[in-house]
Amino acid sequence: MISASAVDAYIEKNSRRFVDELKELCAFPSISNHGHDAVKPARDWLANRLGQFTNKVETFDAGGMPALYAEVPGSGRRKLLLYQHYDVQPVDPIDLWNSPPFEPVEKDGRIIARGVADDKSDVMARIHALETLKHLGEVPVTLRFLVEGEEEIGSKTFEKIAHQHADKLSADGCLWESGTSFDDAGRATLQFGCRGLLYVQLRVKMLDFDQHSGFASIYPSAAMYMIGALASLRDQDMNINLEGFYDKVVQPTAADRAMMATIDPEVEKRRQLIGFEKLVRTPQESQVIEQMLFTPTCNVAGVTTGYQGPGSKTVLPAEATAKLDFRLIPDQDPNDVLAQLRRHLDTHGFEKVEIVWSDAEKPARSDPASAVAKTVIECVTDLYGTPILWPFMPATGPMHPVVSDLGIPTVLPVGVGRPDNRIHAPNENIHAADYINTIRLMCRVWERFGAG
Ligand SMILES: [Zn+2]
Repeated sequence: MISASAVDAYIEKNSRRFVDELKELCAFPSISNHGHDAVKPARDWLANRLGQFTNKVETFDAGGMPALYAEVPGSGRRKLLLYQHYDVQPVDPIDLWNSPPFEPVEKDGRIIARGVADDKSDVMARIHALETLKHLGEVPVTLRFLVEGEEEIGSKTFEKIAHQHADKLSADGCLWESGTSFDDAGRATLQFGCRGLLYVQLRVKMLDFDQHSGFASIYPSAAMYMIGALASLRDQDMNINLEGFYDKVVQPTAADRAMMATIDPEVEKRRQLIGFEKLVRTPQESQVIEQMLFTPTCNVAGVTTGYQGPGSKTVLPAEATAKLDFRLIPDQDPNDVLAQLRRHLDTHGFEKVEIVWSDAEKPARSDPASAVAKTVIECVTDLYGTPILWPFMPATGPMHPVVSDLGIPTVLPVGVGRPDNRIHAPNENIHAADYINTIRLMCRVWERFGAG
């Protein structure tokens, strides 16, 4: 086993170059929303970097933005799957950037560039950890890199990729892209899953064209019809009326509750920041985190109908549209919820509401007591102190095919994530010191997991 001090010395000696190479990757405008040509140069560059350590580099193409795969054989018996993505979000609004998003700059110990936090630091830190261990000796665990190319546009072909290449992806554990990493108080955090998502667009058209509102006494209103349909879905306390909606919802276990008890819900801080008067269901402070994670939602993301310009316009709108998102918790299936929504509309007098399109990702949760989870918890404790553990994160990612279909225990480790990273927003940034620590943590986890 390579000593932690040798690892740290090598990383320290090469830290300037490591940061420069991260900036080199960040200079590629790999915006998946802009199509194939936008993402290919970053993928080619990465294929070349990984090719310096293994001849097993391939592209997995299932009809979307291709993923990059590389296997690095290790000396031990265990295998570890590493999930990251090389694509990034668009840069708009561009005027709010203080420097060009794809010309990485360093300022006050931070690196600023689109994608530097989400998720190019994970991609490069893992390559730099590989370089470090290879230089000092052996990699004790077989590493299987999967670098996705369309995470930021909903991972549409990821399930297909996971199923088609199940043998190449199989592993004893998976390190996902790092999540939140540090809370407001600077404490390290780990997560073991994510919530699912169903996104739908609804539309209702009652008339061929808008009418003078003097005729509202005889013509039906698309606006009221849509509002009625939306109001029938749930109440103000997030009790959702779709039949069968809660059937597959899991209850928190004693272990989940023990973990959640250590998370500070920071209600007062949130109140000052966000300005709410009271929380939904007015939970006790000790119940806030459980409610946040274990309550599935039905949220109106937007409604469009009629006139909203200056002054008045007496119009009876012909059409109304709405976008809804449902955050789902294990073991809800977004396909079931979509069918329940259709049935609900049809049986409650809203059959004229069309579901124009939908998009879905399934929820996932992994055992926080798995071997890989234990290893990560131990290494994070050594490096950062006792971490805060979340049963799963409130947000969504494409973890389900890996966790549930391939059955690989999965952890979202600590990376560069801080509350002020501005991911998906202008001036996305990380602390350079967090980047270097991410490389150190990776080396420790691989060494310890490989020894098992
Ligand atoms: Zn990401």
